[in-house]
Amino acid sequence: MVSGDAGHWVLIRAGTLIDGEGNVAHHVEVLVHGEKIVHVGPAGSAPRVADEVTRIDASQDTLMPGLIDAHLHVTYSGHLGMQQLEWPRSLELAAVSAGANATKALRFGYTGGLDVGCRGKIGVATKAAIAEGTIEGPTLRVSGQIISPVGGPLDLWPSSMRLDPATRLAALVSGVEDARRVIREQAKDGVDNIKFQISGSTVQSKRRGRASFFSDEELRAAVGQAHDLGLSTAAHAEGPEAISAAIRAGVDTVQHASFIDDPTIELLSAHPDARLVFTLGVYDDIIHIGPSIGYPSESSQRVRDVWERMVAAVRLAYERGVPFAVGSDAGGAVHPHGRYAREIVLLVRVCGIPVERAVRAATSHAARAAWLGGAGVIGADHDADLVVVAGDLVRRVELLEDDANIRVVMKKGRIVRRISGSEIVTTTIA
Ligand SMILES: [Zn+2]
Repeated sequence: MVSGDAGHWVLIRAGTLIDGEGNVAHHVEVLVHGEKIVHVGPAGSAPRVADEVTRIDASQDTLMPGLIDAHLHVTYSGHLGMQQLEWPRSLELAAVSAGANATKALRFGYTGGLDVGCRGKIGVATKAAIAEGTIEGPTLRVSGQIISPVGGPLDLWPSSMRLDPATRLAALVSGVEDARRVIREQAKDGVDNIKFQISGSTVQSKRRGRASFFSDEELRAAVGQAHDLGLSTAAHAEGPEAISAAIRAGVDTVQHASFIDDPTIELLSAHPDARLVFTLGVYDDIIHIGPSIGYPSESSQRVRDVWERMVAAVRLAYERGVPFAVGSDAGGAVHPHGRYAREIVLLVRVCGIPVERAVRAATSHAARAAWLGGAGVIGADHDADLVVVAGDLVRRVELLEDDANIRVVMKKGRIVRRISGSEIVTTTIA
């Protein structure tokens, strides 16, 4: 019999367990003590404990690690077209919305996230509000404004608009010294991750100059500085040239990686810590939902034209055994917050990846990508970030898309949502 020191005990009996590392088991029990998982084994195998135990019967359900969104934007809220990422929505409204968006992610079973760019300093504030308990939300690593060249893909408005730089999504820079200054400032202000916009976006029409907006030397210097400051780095890179540049520069997450090809994937063997983060869900919604909500039709068409290549890129990474994560890029009108799990569904239904392996991309692989060590796996000594989904997820991955099916959400051992039948037993995130 095990006796408890500080920390509550929770015993979960699960009909199906997806462990986050690509495996499925049945009739399993998981014992949690305090913030950690202490035992995983067949039903009846958990050590008996002397103290009071909260029991969760998930014998008809699926237990999995808390999900991690490796491409989150807490400040994105209903924009239609890229210019609206910066105007007319006020910075203040974006900040209030960010808190609500973070809470929504947790309600959908996302206990972790990598924010890859926000307006102003809202990401840092959102993380702080979660940490102090003012709002509920995932464990976050946050970026500041996205570092992007003057006149580049995130310089969205004419100069005559004179937007207040502090309210923008992008920190517009001219050259590497300018980028280094912004990185130092962001580090001072508490960001965890530096995001670079090094290539254009598929939905944009303007194609000016080279495919990567920073020289290799500039990018290496900027990434090196971020690493020296203890920060992780992420790059928006869609085509092979930009993806290669990001990998060679030592970037930690290559975001989108939409058109990665054979030679580019080869580069990863020399840079095994770099992680690809695919974002099929937003493109799928641009194609299928875009036309009905007034999304610019040229942009939808551009995505439709390359959809098959994007799917092929994910297949290529999977077949090569390259560990990759997925991220939602959610928050626009076409792909709103709440659509996070679309990523996992598309990996299964469109890319033909088995459910338990698709889940890896949003759990253990996403934890590596987001530098959230300890999360993303159901195993002894891992963080007790857990989700119970009503029913058998291996048969119906779509269950993840409806928060009514998210019966239990546990973050670091604390139950933040628990629904039994139609009865809400516990929830701080109703
Ligand atoms: Zn994004």
